[in-house]
Amino acid sequence: MFDNLSERLERSFKILKGEGKITEINVAETLKDVRKALLDADVNYKVAKTFTDTVKEKALGQNVLTAVKPSQLMVKIVHDELTQLMGGETAEIDLEGKPAVILMSGLQGSGKTTFSGKLARMLKTKKNKKPLLVACDVYRPAAIEQLCVLAEQIGVPIYSEPDSKNPVKIAENAIQEAKAKGYDVVIVDTAGRLAVDEEMMNEIAAIKKAINPNEILFVVDSMTGQDAVNTAKEFNERLDFNGVVLTKLDGDTRGGAALSIRSVVNKPIKFVGTGEKLDAIDQFHPSRMSDRILG
Ligand code: GDP
Repeated sequence: MFDNLSERLERSFKILKGEGKITEINVAETLKDVRKALLDADVNYKVAKTFTDTVKEKALGQNVLTAVKPSQLMVKIVHDELTQLMGGETAEIDLEGKPAVILMSGLQGSGKTTFSGKLARMLKTKKNKKPLLVACDVYRPAAIEQLCVLAEQIGVPIYSEPDSKNPVKIAENAIQEAKAKGYDVVIVDTAGRLAVDEEMMNEIAAIKKAINPNEILFVVDSMTGQDAVNTAKEFNERLDFNGVVLTKLDGDTRGGAALSIRSVVNKPIKFVGTGEKLDAIDQFHPSRMSDRILG
C-alpha cells in the first residue's frame, strides 16, 4: 500500500543518529512525510490530520531507549496508532439465535453476492454451520442466477422467489423456511444500485425493519478510495450497519479506505475480500493491515 513508509521514516530520522531524544522539528518533518503518504493512499484528509497529531503527541518527549533507534521507535508509534485507528482488535460477527440473520448492503458491483457466497462457505467449513443463502434482488434476474451458481459450488442451499417483486416478503419467507428446516444462519443478499438512491435505501431499510437482522454488513470495493468513505457514511446514516466488508484488497488498491472508513463511520471492518475465488476471504486483522501499510 504505502510503499516504503518505513524507509521514509528511516530516512527522516537518520539525522537523529546519536541523539537520545526525538526533537520537535524532526518529528514535524517526519509527520509531514507520514501525512503525505497517507493522503497518497487516499486516506481522508481529516483522518490523516488527526492521526499525525496523535502520533506527534506520543512521539514528543518520549526518550529513545538506548537499544532502539529513534526511527524504529517512530515506526512503532505509527504502527500502533494505525492499528488503533483501524479498531485495534479483530471484530467478530454475531451468530446468536437460530437462525442468525445477516443482511448484506452496498452498491452494485461492490462484491456483495460474491461475499455472501464466501461467508456461507466459511461458516459451513470453518464453523460447522448450516447456512441458507437468500436472493433478494428482484430487479436483476442475473443476480439470482449468480447466487445460484455460487450456492451450488459451495453446496449451500438457496432461497429465492423468481416471480416475486417483493424483497421484504422474500426475506421474511426465507427466515420461516430456515426455521422450519433448521438452518443456523440466513445470509440475505440484496439489490445494489450504481449510486445511492432513495428507493434503494427505502427498500433495504424496510427489509431491515421486517427481519431485524443480527448483523448488517456494508460491503465496499476498496479500490474506490474516497468514494468508499462517502458511500459508507450514507449507508451508515440510513441503516446504522454493524460492520464493513472491504473487498478487492488483492487489487492495486492503496487501501486508504480501510483507515478512513473506521474513523469516519466508527464501525469495525470485519472481513476483507482478497480475490474472486470463494476461499478468498479473511477476517480483518488491524495489526496485520498496519504491517502491510508500513511494508
Ligand atoms: P455485487 O453486485 O455487489 O453483488 O458484486 P459481485 O459479487 O457480483 O462482484 C462484482 C465483481 O467483483 C465480480 O466480477 C466479482 O468476481 C468481483 N469481486 C468480488 N469480490 C472480489 C475480491 O475480493 N477481489 C477481486 N479481485 N474481485 C472481486
